Amino acid sequence: MDTLLPEPAAVPSHSPRTWLRQIHSGGQIFETCPAWCTDNHRSDDSGFLDDLSHGAHFNGPELPVSDAEHGSLPMPVFAGRINVDPYSEDPRRSVPHIHLEPFQDEVMECLDPREFAAVIAQVRAHCDRLDEVHAQLVKARAEYR
Ligand SMILES: [Zn+2]
Repeated sequence: MDTLLPEPAAVPSHSPRTWLRQIHSGGQIFETCPAWCTDNHRSDDSGFLDDLSHGAHFNGPELPVSDAEHGSLPMPVFAGRINVDPYSEDPRRSVPHIHLEPFQDEVMECLDPREFAAVIAQVRAHCDRLDEVHAQLVKARAEYR
């Protein structure tokens, strides 16, 4: 081709973060984040080998839940984290997995893709059922008295 090469993209590249970590049991090791990791790793300059996790949090919708004192409080549902514990001896944890919080402070740990898909399908099916209940409510109100 005789045209000029395109300018480099203006968007910042997300080159993997790499740092040197001191291991309490001895030695040091270079760690590299997977591309999807958003953890800051501020306290990961040293530790035991299997202390390290990489991950990224995802938010869930906040539902206004009745509260006697405040009227209502925002309750996040279906938030969670994609996570990997690269040095875990548990084969479920040493590969990327999901920690899902269906309710605040309640965790479904270590979901693999098949298990996560099953939860998504269950919730999606329930939303379809809620649509039916919504239609039932609208009809019930129209017919009321
Ligand atoms: Zn990381």
